[in-house]
Amino acid sequence: MSEEKEISVSGIGVSPGVAIGKVFLLPREEVVVEERKISKSRVASEVKRFLAAVEKTKKEVGRIRSALKEEMGEEYAKIFDAHLMILEDELAIENTIKAIRQKGKNAEYVFRAIVSKIADSMETSSNEYLRDRALDVRDVKKRVLRNLLEEKGVGLSRIGGKALLIAHDLAPSEAALMDKAKILGFATDVGGRTSHAAIMARARGIPAVVGLKNVTKIAGMGETAVIDGSTGKVVINPSQKTLRFYEKKRKQIMAHEKDLGDIKSLPSVTVDGHGVELSANMELPEDIEGAIGSGAQGIGLYRTEFFYLAQSRLPTEEEQYENYRSIAERVYPKTVIIRTVDVGGDKFASYLGTNKESNPFLGWRGIRFSLQREEIFRTQLRAIFRAGAKGNVKVMFPMVSALEELRRANAICGEVKEELIKEGKAVNADTEIGIMVETPSAVITSELLAKETDFFSIGTNDLIQYTLAVDRGNERIAQLYEPFHPAILRALKMTVDAAHANHIWVGVCGEMGGDPLGALLLVGMGVDELSVSPFVLPEIKTAIRSAKYSELKELAEHVLLLSTATEVKGAILERVGDKFPQFLICNI
Ligand code: PEP
Ligand code: MG
Repeated sequence: MSEEKEISVSGIGVSPGVAIGKVFLLPREEVVVEERKISKSRVASEVKRFLAAVEKTKKEVGRIRSALKEEMGEEYAKIFDAHLMILEDELAIENTIKAIRQKGKNAEYVFRAIVSKIADSMETSSNEYLRDRALDVRDVKKRVLRNLLEEKGVGLSRIGGKALLIAHDLAPSEAALMDKAKILGFATDVGGRTSHAAIMARARGIPAVVGLKNVTKIAGMGETAVIDGSTGKVVINPSQKTLRFYEKKRKQIMAHEKDLGDIKSLPSVTVDGHGVELSANMELPEDIEGAIGSGAQGIGLYRTEFFYLAQSRLPTEEEQYENYRSIAERVYPKTVIIRTVDVGGDKFASYLGTNKESNPFLGWRGIRFSLQREEIFRTQLRAIFRAGAKGNVKVMFPMVSALEELRRANAICGEVKEELIKEGKAVNADTEIGIMVETPSAVITSELLAKETDFFSIGTNDLIQYTLAVDRGNERIAQLYEPFHPAILRALKMTVDAAHANHIWVGVCGEMGGDPLGALLLVGMGVDELSVSPFVLPEIKTAIRSAKYSELKELAEHVLLLSTATEVKGAILERVGDKFPQFLICNI
């Protein structure tokens, strides 16, 4: 650990905002467990001691659950049902009892070994959701061990004043107890977007960065640090200059946030009266409140695969229907665009058979999967069409790369609708069915696709990776992942023109639309809708409301003539850089 040298590390920003303060380093609390022999005569009492610790843990978790329910509602409290399930899990509990009896070893020793094994296998799973759930298992393990050893929990309760919490990982129970008055921000070595700590941080408005790999090795207790949840950067021992930069950014964000309250109810329209539909993206059902609260005009992308990945089996039609219906009802009369499952790529579920391939992003993904597993596709479509009976649901297919795929998917939609009508189920016969444009072949044939679909939503995240041949998740070539590459601009232009020539609307639901530079350029290109993360939505609306459509159109025409991304970005900044605060520009 260095004393004064500034060190900057980058991870995944999961909750925006800037926090500056002293580090509270949460120790990587490994409870010390000894291996002891248990004589035959003491086995029964050892099992009893173990079951008592499990019961005590259940009560503790129950108390946290109730407190959380009161504070934040059932949606958040439900997270602890996973903990309670583990405490009732046969594999963990029965096997521990069996092992105490058969091996004659102490409860904490065998329980730790069994549960660590379960958590390890979850952690190495290719399923992101399961990997994140490994934290729940470890959390429960720690609690049971502490109760067996009758240790008091250390950790967050020791934080006296306001601090930045830096931890290897943050168990959901710890994240749930996070007091915003004390914890200014947090950063962890591990974790992903769907980890519960990230969900909690977002819900409480605490800036957070996860997936930093070794931030606990770099940061020292009591050192000054900065957590920038928007860019995913953490700076330890910032220089005076860096500190001044982030202080300014923090104040700007705070002042800006105050103003944003007013903008939520205002229309998304340019100074010269050009309206742009501004919607929110969502991944998990609990994202809905944040999306609505951001002032979104609807949900422009609901990534349903996360619901599938959250299960260890296929969700039934009824389960899906309930999920989609509750979202459609919550946003009514606004619209939700439900994207059919986009598994494959970087999202796998072993029960779906989407195991790792040598080129997963070029493999069995999106609509390719759905058309081959037609029964799964039909079940999902039935649930979507039923949920859309009131007319505020649209369907969208991901990863379309050929017209035949669209035709087949449309035909299946027609059959499913007919079947539902025959069964007497309420459906909206005019449900709009659109496609994501996210492969170069879809762009190049957009003229053909536009004739057989109701709308386009451009997935810039994938379109950039496929067009530039740059893996979107590979940090080694991250500098080549360039939304303003002239090839991307031409692809966007081609798609927008094809849509409009065929009288359909075109939106953008990739991250490019969530960057102010990108958003203004896309509006200038004629994009009708932007669907962005709810966190950035008010800022994007601010940028749109301060720009002139006539100028944005001219800007788009101008940058299409330029030869490099640097020139493009320079031109956008020069012409409309004053339409949004500079601190909003981050890497996209
Ligand atoms: C995209 O590719 O831009 C997109 C929105 O879809 P996803 O990020 O889920 O691949
Ligand atoms: Mg995509």
